Amino acid sequence: MKHRICSKCKSSLPISKFYRRGRNGLQGLCKLCSKANWSEYGEKWRKLYPEKKRLLVRNSWNKLRLKVFEALGHKCKRCGFTDKRALQVDHPNGGGNAEARRLDRAGNGGGWRLMKLVIANPLKYRILCANCNVITHAERLAARHNSNPCVIWRRPGIGADRNKRRGARLGNNSASLPKGRKVTHQNLK
Ligand SMILES: [Zn+2]
Ligand SMILES: [Zn+2]
Repeated sequence: MKHRICSKCKSSLPISKFYRRGRNGLQGLCKLCSKANWSEYGEKWRKLYPEKKRLLVRNSWNKLRLKVFEALGHKCKRCGFTDKRALQVDHPNGGGNAEARRLDRAGNGGGWRLMKLVIANPLKYRILCANCNVITHAERLAARHNSNPCVIWRRPGIGADRNKRRGARLGNNSASLPKGRKVTHQNLK
């Protein structure tokens, strides 16, 4: 098998470990070094142009959201509300929190993974407005616990769990995370 020496890591590798350049040529860097170069370049670029990076992220997030609406419809399935700022993805069979926890990686990227899942399996989800989402959630839990649907049920510890994991990622424990601000008459103003 033909080998070639990477100009960066200097190791001799089979030519399948090099990306092509043009029709017959090969790049001077092996695939691994080339990828490393690109991610280094990306990192520098993101540091140099944080506002451009933010814009890119927002644009691709909006595109993804639009695809979700194309897959699931553009209004609340329960009441017909259409303002997309308050439309959310609901799991008709419950389990949304469990799924969010499964997709979440230490507080990161869960939303993106969920959107991609939704686009791939549109039948498993539906669009609800924020109000209907909270109400159906409360009704579901009330039915399960055989209690008053006016009480909003929250499973204890979801937020705390996440903060703990986020704390672990940042290298500190949950005790050092800022406590929620106490709402007083003054800081509401
Ligand atoms: Zn190399
Ligand atoms: Zn609704």
